[in-house]
Amino acid sequence: MVTKIALEEHALCPGLTEYWHPTVADVPAVVRDRLLDALTDFGERRLAGMDRAGIGKAVIGIAGPGVQVETDTARAIAKARASNDFLAAEVAKRPDRYAGFGHLPMQDPLAAADELQRCVEELNFCGAMVNGHTNGRYLDDPAYAPFWERAATLKTWIYLHPADPVATMPSLAGTFGLKRATWEWGVETGTHALRLVFGGVFERHPEARLMLGHLGETLPYLLWRFDSRAKLYGVTLPKPPSFYIKRNIAVTTSGMSSAEPLACAVAALGRDRVCFASDHPFEDAGEAGHFLDTVDIPDEVRTEIASGNAKTLLGLA
Ligand code: MN
Repeated sequence: MVTKIALEEHALCPGLTEYWHPTVADVPAVVRDRLLDALTDFGERRLAGMDRAGIGKAVIGIAGPGVQVETDTARAIAKARASNDFLAAEVAKRPDRYAGFGHLPMQDPLAAADELQRCVEELNFCGAMVNGHTNGRYLDDPAYAPFWERAATLKTWIYLHPADPVATMPSLAGTFGLKRATWEWGVETGTHALRLVFGGVFERHPEARLMLGHLGETLPYLLWRFDSRAKLYGVTLPKPPSFYIKRNIAVTTSGMSSAEPLACAVAALGRDRVCFASDHPFEDAGEAGHFLDTVDIPDEVRTEIASGNAKTLLGLA
């Protein structure tokens, strides 16, 4: 079993459960209770689960959407801060096993930038996890320029995690089983990342760093097409979209225990841009760990994906 650093491992800090409940409204109550139990556990059970999957260190991020759906900005700022302090205290108890991603009040871009800086510099977090749009505003909005400037200056990672779109796509009306994690979140999150690329955020902030789960939310598969269509439509960026995707984006294996998309991500982005994640407790960490242990790739690449790239990219030990 190869020792792993896992980058999309969830928890719920006190005060955030009310925001999470609607995301599991369509899940059976018994499953919901089991998830909540796992999310609020920072004890031996979480560590035992990590051990079974070969996860030496888990970078904990809250289960979204958190305060990003809060309509009272002052409340969002206070609750994000409290959540980060709580997580930092839990990480401090087992710094050998845990690290953290900050939770940010994206309603106020400057407050979010300040909290990001506090998370990185004072709480020693690896960056922040942002759960999709915030009350309909996406990260390419000009209002977020100061936020990206700060993130780039700090050379820290923004992990863009799926969340519900503002409204369900009309094409999903009347479907069963396609919403949320099956298809909807991937389209929403891939689109969000492409807004940043096509909107020039990475052109204006070359040091900005974005992480995507699910082996890149389909982007690695479509690089050629993005470049080809950007040319057709006269996108005026100095470089083709694939340039920014390769330079500014890294991906994790969260929720994707599958050899073909892994091969595609490694081929498209490079073996140094793919990291391990299990998405605990929404996916089975044991299955994710077993997949990376056994998938048919050179052992050197396996070790890089398991932990080497996380060490290099996020500065983890
Ligand atoms: Mn997740």
